[in-house]
Order: sequence, then C-alpha cells, then structure tokens
Amino acid sequence: DEQSEVQDLKGKIRVYCRVRPLLSTDHGNVECVECSETESQLTLRKGGTANNGASSWRKIKESIEDTKTFTFDKMFSSAASQEKIYADMQPLVRCVLDGFNVCVLAYGQTGSGKTYTMTGPKIGGAFCETSGVNIRALDDLFCIAGERAASYTYDFEVQMVEIYNEQLRDLLTTQQTVLEIKKDARRGWGTPDARRIKVCSVQDVVECMREGDKSRSTGSTSMNERSSRSHCVVTVQGRVSTADLMVRRIPQCSPGGRTQVTGKMLSTGSKVFGCIHLVDLAGSERVNRSEVTGDRLKEAQHINKSLASLGDVITAFANNQTHIPYRNSKLTHLLQVVPLNHHTRCKRFTGAAGLRHTWLKRS
Ligand code: ADP
Ligand code: MG
Repeated sequence: DEQSEVQDLKGKIRVYCRVRPLLSTDHGNVECVECSETESQLTLRKGGTANNGASSWRKIKESIEDTKTFTFDKMFSSAASQEKIYADMQPLVRCVLDGFNVCVLAYGQTGSGKTYTMTGPKIGGAFCETSGVNIRALDDLFCIAGERAASYTYDFEVQMVEIYNEQLRDLLTTQQTVLEIKKDARRGWGTPDARRIKVCSVQDVVECMREGDKSRSTGSTSMNERSSRSHCVVTVQGRVSTADLMVRRIPQCSPGGRTQVTGKMLSTGSKVFGCIHLVDLAGSERVNRSEVTGDRLKEAQHINKSLASLGDVITAFANNQTHIPYRNSKLTHLLQVVPLNHHTRCKRFTGAAGLRHTWLKRS
C-alpha cells in the first residue's frame, strides 16, 4: 500500500542511469552501450567512440572481452522521455511535503546530459515536453498543493546557488558576495543570506531559473563552460499552514472511563516542510594534470575534491557509518543542512504507523 511504499522509499539512495541519444554533433560516433531497461543494466563496450562507424563496430567486436556490465536501480535508454524520467522521481519529490528531505543529483561528464535532465534543453517560455526535473518537480508540488488547498496552504520558496572553486554564490542576485553556511535563529541551518524567491506557478519557476542561468554566465566563460566546472544547487523549501487554525480537541478516556475533552492543541499554525535539493553537478571528467595549469588546475582540483567528498558521504551512508563526513566540501555541507523544525517533527512521528501525511493528517 501507499504507506509501506513510502517506508520503502525513505532513506534509500537510488542510482539511475540515463543514456543520452547520439547527437548530430557526435560525428562518426556509434553507440557503444547496450541498455536493458527490464534488467536495469548497462553494457559498455570499449572502442565505440571517436572513430568512424565502420571501424568502431569492428573494434567493438574485437574487444568483446572488454565488455562491462553495470546494474543500476533503474536504467533509462536514450529513448526515454523527460516525462518518463520524472515519473520515477515523482513519489520521492512528493515526500517533501510530508516532511522528508530529498536530494536529486545529476552526475556525469560534460556533455552527458545532466543539464538536459535537470532543466531541459534550454530555459524557454513555459512548461513543455522537454522540461526537466526541476520544473516538473515544482509543477508537481504546486499540483498537490492545489489538491490540498481546502485544508492547507503551502508557500514555496526557491533558492539557487552555485558552488565554484569551493565558494558559494547566490545566482538570484547580482551581488557577488560569497555565501556562508550558518545557523539562523529563524530558519535553522542553511544559507540564510541567499535570496529566496516565492514561487506560485511554473512560470515563476521558469523565470527564476532563467535569472539564475543569466548570472551563471556572467564573467569571462560562457554558461556551458562555467556550468561544467561548477555545481548548481536549486533548493525548494517552504511552509505549510492549516487553512483552519481552529484549536481542535481530542477526546480522551479518563481513568474513570468517562470520555473527556482535553484542551490539547494539535494545530500550531505553520511549519516548515521538507526541503528538496536539485543538483546539476560539475562535469565528472578527470582533468589531466599535466595539461592544465593555473585557474583550470585550481578548478579541477576543487571539482575533484567535492565529487570525492560526495562519494565519501554516500559510502558512509551505504556502510551505515555513524559519522558522515559532510564538512569536507561546500557541496556536501550545503546538502547536509536541514531547516529548523524539521527534526522535531520527524522525531515525533517516526514511530507512528503511517509515515505519509502523518503530520498533516494529525494536525
Ligand atoms: P551536461 O550538462 O552534462 O554537460 P547537456 O545537458 O548540456 O550536458 O547535454 C549536452 C547536449 O546533449 C545538449 O545539446 C543537450 O541538449 C543534448 N542532450 C542531452 N540529453 C539529451 C536527451 N536525452 N535527448 C536529446 N538531447 C539531449
Ligand atoms: Mg551542464
């Protein structure tokens, strides 16, 4: 049922693999991967790239013993649509409104389709077939908020920051100040100085992302170049308030057996719900140290460091380690932070029978 489904979803790290189709700009390349969506496997064959078709195919056949197979939680072939990709994330994204924290990361080499998956081919006008995870997630959250509008009011805020050379920069302002991760009395841990934009519609989100992309491309490098060397983190947070703030009373059995009404207030106004981080990581390609110097070398070192830290954090999770080394990079530190109120609420209800909607239904 729905509740056990959410129980299953909670806390697990899932790794999905998406193959991007060959583009007309991939001259002479042939696909060197074979996907099995049913088996969730990807088979990789050496020798499939950077050659003209014929010789590559010959190479593939020759190097058959170099074949490697990887198994993922889910495999998406190059035919998979943006809609299909999002459909698999939808239950996770929806958990956010019930108080869970969710993080979606796109990892891969430059050109492998991270930005396409997270945002879409370009930030254009409205929501369309090619819109990526970011926009679909927000659209979905608005949709649920609409369905629950009779009882609850949701306010969504979007923040968009870039991590470049281990420095955090707000993409939604033109100020070039470096953001700090710190505790804020009202908001809890996070980047309290980052600008948060209230969004009420997909159009608002699109505009917000367009603004973020614009400030990403300032400076000497082009947007594409810059984005391959920096991480972009879109965070959605917000508050939920009950539409009727009436004090509800629960009937309780007194020791004498009479039902009495206590004055316990279950509804406390508005609460922060879970937060979702949508991350377009820097390109995972290894930069050959002997070929780069100066700024490029520094960039490469920072990228390597933060991707390695991310790997360490994931390994620590996988091994059920008590200490999770979040603080080793800005990226993992930023992803660690949870808004105030979250812990209290989760602690209270973790043991409850139904995880989904628990807080909402009880209040
Ligand atoms: P990355 O962000 O990983 O560097 P991009 O998302 O910019 O890569 O993708 C590189 C190119 O491939 C872009 O032109 C993009 O539009 C295209 N592309 C990526 N994924 C797909 C896909 N699933 N279908 C069609 N085109 C894609
Ligand atoms: Mg990109």
